[in-house]
Amino acid sequence: MAIREIRVMGDPVLSKRCKEVTEMTDRLKTLVNDMFDTMYDAEGVGLAAPQVGILKRIVVVDVGDDEPVALINPRLVSTDGEQTGSEGCLSVPGKVGMVTRPLYAKVLAFDTDMKPIEVEGNGLKARALVHELEHLDGHLYVEKVEGELRDVSDFEEEEEEE
Ligand code: ZN
Repeated sequence: MAIREIRVMGDPVLSKRCKEVTEMTDRLKTLVNDMFDTMYDAEGVGLAAPQVGILKRIVVVDVGDDEPVALINPRLVSTDGEQTGSEGCLSVPGKVGMVTRPLYAKVLAFDTDMKPIEVEGNGLKARALVHELEHLDGHLYVEKVEGELRDVSDFEEEEEEE
């Protein structure tokens, strides 16, 4: 088990386009395992390789109600519907913002044996898939926030009042 350092907004690695994985290596398999460890340690539901400083098209997602998935060279192939809700990112600690995302998303990718896989999901899973894939092209959710980016603590207080 190895926890890697999560890069935070302002780090130039988060705004770069990641390269395709052409060959699975032991080094990349270790990266994938470390990405899961790092995501669980930080209590996130997804993590993209650039968030740990590696410019490769790899993401991991585990929203808790489905199998954890590692996606190599993922491509968003289909979306449907719309959802607007609060979103956060391990690279933007302590903040949340409202973001509109598809309600359903389907992704084609490769698994860690470089076999083609298809992953789809609704709700939080669709949100996590789309969010993580955007990291691979150097985008953060803060670019899409409707209204203000807010502190998590303020957000929780307001939720309690309602
Ligand atoms: Zn993120």
